[in-house]
Amino acid sequence: MSSAAISAESGSNLVLACQGLSRVYTQGPQPVTVLAEVNLSVARGESIAIVGASGSGKSTLLHLLGGLDDPTQGSVQVQGKPLARYNEVERGRMRNQTLGFVYQFHHLLAEFTALENVAMPLLIRRVSPALARKQAAKVLEQVGLGERLAHKPGELSGGERQRAAIARALVTQPACVLADEPTGNLDRQTADKVFDLLLSLNRETGTSLVVVTHDPELAKRMDKTWLLRDGKLQPLES
Ligand code: ADP
Ligand code: MG
Repeated sequence: MSSAAISAESGSNLVLACQGLSRVYTQGPQPVTVLAEVNLSVARGESIAIVGASGSGKSTLLHLLGGLDDPTQGSVQVQGKPLARYNEVERGRMRNQTLGFVYQFHHLLAEFTALENVAMPLLIRRVSPALARKQAAKVLEQVGLGERLAHKPGELSGGERQRAAIARALVTQPACVLADEPTGNLDRQTADKVFDLLLSLNRETGTSLVVVTHDPELAKRMDKTWLLRDGKLQPLES
């Protein structure tokens, strides 16, 4: 089968995939190989946990999958199309429309309210301001921040900021959410609630999830768990 036929076929059921993905950091005296020929496929509607020690390369992998960083070797396909074939404008559009990111640190804009932060990806998509605010308010309510719409990030607790960041990733109803330790600074109960929310989105809208977590209890709730160790992914019983 030609590579074009393969990518057209995988485009039908794979939201995200990578093959032979390597990332070597060359800063410092010695090159550091963080990822060594990693393969991963994320099917439509699938939920995947990635676990691994601190420094094992989990954030690096997520950044490569989302086109925020370029691999040293290997390729990433988003909905069957190689990222290398996207120009900068297309990459930006893909990040806005196909993927939702939740970072380890919330990355909310300090001078905007929770409502404005969450409405932003919709405004970038040219949704009308009135509809953007309405949808943003709805998602903020779903994450338990219905009473915090007018608060700025500095006026929210750490957990509330992280929930607002999750709302911002969900508001565009992306095909796949990439989340980097989204519950890392939340208490048990809040972390469970945030996972409930991610998993209900996964069930109800078929949004795929790739979630980096330290929490084995949370990883167990996903369809599959991969352990990143020595630059390789290995399956874990979940
Ligand atoms: P994790 O998210 O699993 O904690 P990271 O992907 O953040 O791991 O980092 C993996 C390794 O790569 C670490 O040893 C880190 O120091 C190194 N690293 C990450 N980013 C860079 C960079 N921009 N330059 C050089 N080394 C980096
Ligand atoms: Mg990390």
